[in-house]
Amino acid sequence: MKILVINAGSSSLKYQLIDMENEQLMAKGLCERIGIDGHLKHTPLVGDKPVFNEDVPMPTHSEAIAAVIDKLTSAEYGVVASMKEIDAVGHRVVHGGEKFASSVLINDEVLDAIKECIPFAPLHNPANITGINACRDVMGDVPMVAVFDTAFHQTMPSKAFMYAVPYEYYENDGIRRYGFHGTSHRYVSARCAEMMGKPIEELKIISCHMGNGSSLAAVKNGKVVDTSMGFTPLVGLPMGTRCGDLDAGVIQFLMNKYGYSIDEMLNILNKKSGVLGISGVSSDFRDLGKAAEEGNERASLALDMFYYWVAKVAGSYAAAMNGVDAIIFTAGVGENDQTARAEICKYFGYLGVKVNPEANATRGQDIMISTEDSPVKVFVIPTNEELVIARDTRDIVG
Ligand code: AMP
Repeated sequence: MKILVINAGSSSLKYQLIDMENEQLMAKGLCERIGIDGHLKHTPLVGDKPVFNEDVPMPTHSEAIAAVIDKLTSAEYGVVASMKEIDAVGHRVVHGGEKFASSVLINDEVLDAIKECIPFAPLHNPANITGINACRDVMGDVPMVAVFDTAFHQTMPSKAFMYAVPYEYYENDGIRRYGFHGTSHRYVSARCAEMMGKPIEELKIISCHMGNGSSLAAVKNGKVVDTSMGFTPLVGLPMGTRCGDLDAGVIQFLMNKYGYSIDEMLNILNKKSGVLGISGVSSDFRDLGKAAEEGNERASLALDMFYYWVAKVAGSYAAAMNGVDAIIFTAGVGENDQTARAEICKYFGYLGVKVNPEANATRGQDIMISTEDSPVKVFVIPTNEELVIARDTRDIVG
């Protein structure tokens, strides 16, 4: 079975074609500037076909999907003979609200329910729906599955997901913590249990997804019991450009003082804050590390704040779960930045965590970076959200 995995943004579309016989990645690519002019980078990964990297007109997502199918099946760049070889499509959908606690076969009713979640994710869900409709346009009745970023977190108990605001806002408006990066937390926690040789139902795991956006999840006996992102992905840890947790009073103060509209304020909190806002240097941890080495104190502060917040939230999850068996680092920073991992693990002395520096210096593989005798094991597990989407799609389409 060959599955096309689609992650549609407002002006971009990422894809992977995966052969589920052996979970081999056959091709991947990215459409950009959809609705502006259009550019496609298509990389075949089986055979010795060349990379395609050129402008292609893409007035809408439908032309983007058509271009992707054209390349996947072309004699020069293709990896399958025809579209008929693509058995199903798996779509990443950001927000499934309380309706979707797991992945689901897409039909008109499901599409309506995803539309109902648009107010919760006004930038992302419309783009995801556009991607689904574009695939329907171009691929006809190929079965399609939606995999939600929020679904894995739906097991949280109400004491963890409720905000202490009048209850009616939850009942009437769905105001609560939803959490994001669920597909990533699900993949790495399952893989961690596999690496430990124990059923996930017997483990207490803290999953640290640290990338441009960052979130932690407490996974107890295979179920999320808490996570750091909330109603939106703005809160929790300080991130690349997002502020993380913030006293709402600050928003009122700044809006009053500088006359910002709510859109201007949220733009500052989403795009100009986080480690970028603190350092004034960059949102990229590589740039921050370099600047800190050169003596830039604000870059050092930004990094210190990030490490501190990861450790602080992880500590609260150790308390919430009454212990922890394993801590996982994943995503851009978690997978690549050994300094970040070492600095964060320094806070875990009270848990008895011992890091093996040699293992911590290894890159690009699933690895345990704690010592054998460390009572809490620490892992680096490169995340693979596309593989989870493909596996769910296979399981549902059968
Ligand atoms: P992601 O959102 O998971 O793609 O992660 C992107 C972030 O990972 C970038 O903004 C960088 O800050 C970070 N990153 C990637 N490679 C490295 C590296 N070698 N060292 C430190 N940070 C890295």
